[in-house]
Amino acid sequence: MVAVPEILEHPAVAAYLHRLIGDEGLLLIERFPDEGEFSDEELAEVTKINLNTVRHTLYTLYERRLAEYRRIKNNETGWLTYLWRLRLDTIPGAMAEEMETVLEKLRARERFEEENDFYRCGQCGLLVTFNQAMDVDFCCPECGSPIAHFDNDILLLALHRRREAIASSLGHE
Ligand SMILES: [Zn+2]
Repeated sequence: MVAVPEILEHPAVAAYLHRLIGDEGLLLIERFPDEGEFSDEELAEVTKINLNTVRHTLYTLYERRLAEYRRIKNNETGWLTYLWRLRLDTIPGAMAEEMETVLEKLRARERFEEENDFYRCGQCGLLVTFNQAMDVDFCCPECGSPIAHFDNDILLLALHRRREAIASSLGHE
């Protein structure tokens, strides 16, 4: 058994990879031989992980440039073999990219919260924007109770703090 690459010992890295490829995918990385390049079938055999999972994991990693392959053509049969290796050195870049996406979503959400007034049903908790509340004459479309203005300042503050924390961890101003 190959030692777990040091990079996997970082909790943030392990969490990132787990979100991406799950338990089985992590096992594949842990069991991936240290040296050389391997076909998906070889990897399935060496790691004892189901071939479909191996393939799925490799392509998921490939999309994030965390794995790469070399294509070899058998001159007699014309068949192509893909030889894979991991590129765990690119993890920090891939993680930063993911966080930029999260940041962009938070920004959009913050903007939405800032630009809208919200109304909430006191009975069932349904939350709608001002325009939606106008459309239903300030009566809950679910239960018919009156809906009242909902103060989203706390939520907005939480979004703002989370965004700033991520931005500063990414080295933004
Ligand atoms: Zn209601």
